[in-house]
Amino acid sequence: MDVVSTRNPAHHATFRHGLTANLTPDGGLWIPARLLPFANLDALLEMPLADRCAEILKRVIGDEFSHADLDALAHDAFNFPLPLTQIDEQTYALELFHGPTLAFKDFGARLLARLLRLHDADTTSATPRMILTATSGDTGAAVAHAFWRQPGARVVVLYPRGRVSEMQERQFAALGDNVLALAVDGSFDDCQALAKACFNDAALSRELRLTSANSINLARILAQVLYYFEISAALRARGVQQAPVVSVPSGNFGNLCAGLYAQRRGLPMGPFIAATNANRTVPDFLHGGAYLTKPSVATLSNAMDVGAPSNWERIAALFGQDRAAMQAAMRSDSATDAETRAEIARLWQLGWLADPHAAVASAVLQKLRKPGELGVFLATAHPAKFPDAVVEVTGRAVELPPELAALVHLELQAEPLENDVVALKRRLRA
Ligand SMILES: *Cc1c(COP(=O)(O)O)cnc(C)c1O
Repeated sequence: MDVVSTRNPAHHATFRHGLTANLTPDGGLWIPARLLPFANLDALLEMPLADRCAEILKRVIGDEFSHADLDALAHDAFNFPLPLTQIDEQTYALELFHGPTLAFKDFGARLLARLLRLHDADTTSATPRMILTATSGDTGAAVAHAFWRQPGARVVVLYPRGRVSEMQERQFAALGDNVLALAVDGSFDDCQALAKACFNDAALSRELRLTSANSINLARILAQVLYYFEISAALRARGVQQAPVVSVPSGNFGNLCAGLYAQRRGLPMGPFIAATNANRTVPDFLHGGAYLTKPSVATLSNAMDVGAPSNWERIAALFGQDRAAMQAAMRSDSATDAETRAEIARLWQLGWLADPHAAVASAVLQKLRKPGELGVFLATAHPAKFPDAVVEVTGRAVELPPELAALVHLELQAEPLENDVVALKRRLRA
């Protein structure tokens, strides 16, 4: 697969290069040079999930990896359930939270870890690759888990001390081995700034083979393209032919970007619904305002507390910066925390327990769908990861799934770190 820069298609590279080079030479993001519709879509949709994921990876990545390796990788990475659950007559939820860390970020992190492992098996560096990631919770867990005990890889997770949930912290700070968790004396924005300063240090990046696992990495987007195909496959298996509108709970907009890519590959779906919480940068723009990034506002759906979405650059590039084209492809609105709570309650009455992120997607779907439309919303996290909101609304304790129950007794192994880039670089080199 040829990849090009969002900022200038003259910068192009192989998929393998895009996988390991964090940004393009002009500071943009890597995007596919072409997104042609797949041939034989019907046959693709009839395949079992892991077979279909393997087939799509082969078609997209081409010959840069051996097809036998991609087959094995897909069956190993996507070995957990991906149910499309019916909520009411015309509404379904795609449950993306049955992976090992119970959030959809498992898809991207598991594909990325395995592709890097294959890539590094073909190179000869004696220095392990260092995956550096700043997290407000879910990314750190998924990335740490995906790379844990992987030969040739070390993971460093930067997180704001005291500002992630206890469960989230245990998911990445109790693993040890090749995973180092650094509890930064600062905010999530500080953690991101620290990571960025390291990536911008070319000498340090080379020396430590620093690699980003955040959603600026194209492999994460590619992993997410795969599960949109499951929506169409599962609807067809139920005899539903209507193309759905799909509501995506969005923060950095990697997930929605993947949906738009899947549509360009020929999937009958859309328009998409870009659902946000109070961080309204994108809804305001799609409603005709300027594209104004803002400091993030804290909400119940905290994995979506993003005021400057990093993947919007990819979506804008997909539509050639044409706002009218974006408005035709996407509807957008936000849900307040009060609306999010009300939606958790409404869904619970229908018999389905939502976490706050899924509830935002469902609430905005309810606002923006037109009569007769078939609606699907993406459920990005397990409700047990956000027990406070769920207990408050349903009055019922959320049962801990085994993945989380097993963590309760583990000891945290995080190291404290002052909010200082010199101290961080010293620790990374140690
Ligand atoms: C990261 C995350 C999101 C936002 O996804 P983007 O691709 O950044 O838009 C939504 N829900 C949950 C649970 C997340 O962890």
